[in-house]
Amino acid sequence: MDKIIITLDGHSGCGKSTLAKLIAQKLNYTYVDTGAMYRAITYFFLSKNMITDNRLVIGWEDLLDTIEISFQKNDKFLGSVIHLNGLCIENEIRTMRISSLVSVVSKEREIRSKLVDYQQQIGIQKGIVMDGRDIGTVVFPLAEIKLWVTASVTVRAKRRYDEMKKVNNDITLLQVSENLQSRDFEDSNRKISPLKRPEKSHIIDSSSMTISETFDYSMEVINNYFSVNKE
Ligand code: C5P
Repeated sequence: MDKIIITLDGHSGCGKSTLAKLIAQKLNYTYVDTGAMYRAITYFFLSKNMITDNRLVIGWEDLLDTIEISFQKNDKFLGSVIHLNGLCIENEIRTMRISSLVSVVSKEREIRSKLVDYQQQIGIQKGIVMDGRDIGTVVFPLAEIKLWVTASVTVRAKRRYDEMKKVNNDITLLQVSENLQSRDFEDSNRKISPLKRPEKSHIIDSSSMTISETFDYSMEVINNYFSVNKE
């Protein structure tokens, strides 16, 4: 059976990455976390003091070519982890500070274009499960299977809070909820590649589903595709 591309898009904290990893594992495909790429670029500019007052500082475009992002296998993280110019920054990009500034970076056309090129290159061989905000609309509009994952704000905030609490004791549910809602707003209303449901995508509302139920449903969609398209 030929390998295909599976995309997952949706709002922050709806469980896309957990679901995408499970699907990739099951199919022996590569999981690609595009949110990590936008976070890595945010981390880069922050470490160069080039984000102030929620804006990128003049001249940031000149540094874009010096940023190299890659994913490398790491047994400790049970999968691939993101590297920025050769250094692993997987933990550094998961902080509230990065979450609260990533929209500043992800709305910029030049940054999106650099990352979309990279994402499309990764997909040339197919056999990937990629999650993000514009994967089924912009990066791979012709992907064989597109999933649109959603859940209520309350459920998403609680899940993300439980996850973040493990590494950050000071975090509050309110902070997490506000961050999700403000990112949803920024992501859905930006001029370039706003977050929206891709055409012909399957909807998965995970508000009252367990992760294993969302996985079973996704595998039903995927197996159905394979049985209809077998040679
Ligand atoms: O998926 P994650 O929450 O890590 O994404 C962080 C941010 O990166 C999103 O809020 C969004 O601003 C940006 N993003 C994007 N396009 C993608 C993936 C992420 O704009 N394909």
